[in-house]
Amino acid sequence: MLYAQVHLTLPAWVQERVDTARDYPGDADKVALAIELSRVNVEAQSGGPFGAAVFGPDDRIIAVGVNRVLPHACSVAHAETMAYMLAQQRLQTPRLNEYGGPITLATSSQPCCMCYGATVWAGIDRLLIGARAEDVEALTPFDEGPLPEDWVGALQQRGIEVVRDIRREAARAVLRSYGETDGGKY
Ligand SMILES: [Zn+2]
Repeated sequence: MLYAQVHLTLPAWVQERVDTARDYPGDADKVALAIELSRVNVEAQSGGPFGAAVFGPDDRIIAVGVNRVLPHACSVAHAETMAYMLAQQRLQTPRLNEYGGPITLATSSQPCCMCYGATVWAGIDRLLIGARAEDVEALTPFDEGPLPEDWVGALQQRGIEVVRDIRREAARAVLRSYGETDGGKY
């Protein structure tokens, strides 16, 4: 028998820990949520130290994501891909900004090579990033994979604005804590 479906979930705690009633007006507010998701994911032992959130034009949450690679034995279950897939299911479109924008993704750490590719196709207008790839690789066992040399310029050419180093120290603190105590466990 062939497996014919994949079932991916966020941990149950997101329903209690994420306030979907409020808006997140600034870039720093949006990335702060992504970092908080990364922190709680480690604390709850529900995945690796990465969080992300997709926001609509009204600065409200469309979907969130956390790393679920080890719990689901699934290498594509990164925070950004989870957030994209859940936002796409909620809006019922593979291009999130198809019906108007801007759509923003905030992520606790720079997208890896896979999430970079997913970002090209997801239909977002803005990409907000906390920690840099070199932070991830210095503080945790994770590899970010190969990216085009001018990956920021390549996204901008496709109409995606990239803003880096937002709350970078807070994002680094979660990575550091994970790397020192839990590296590779979940
Ligand atoms: Zn990734």
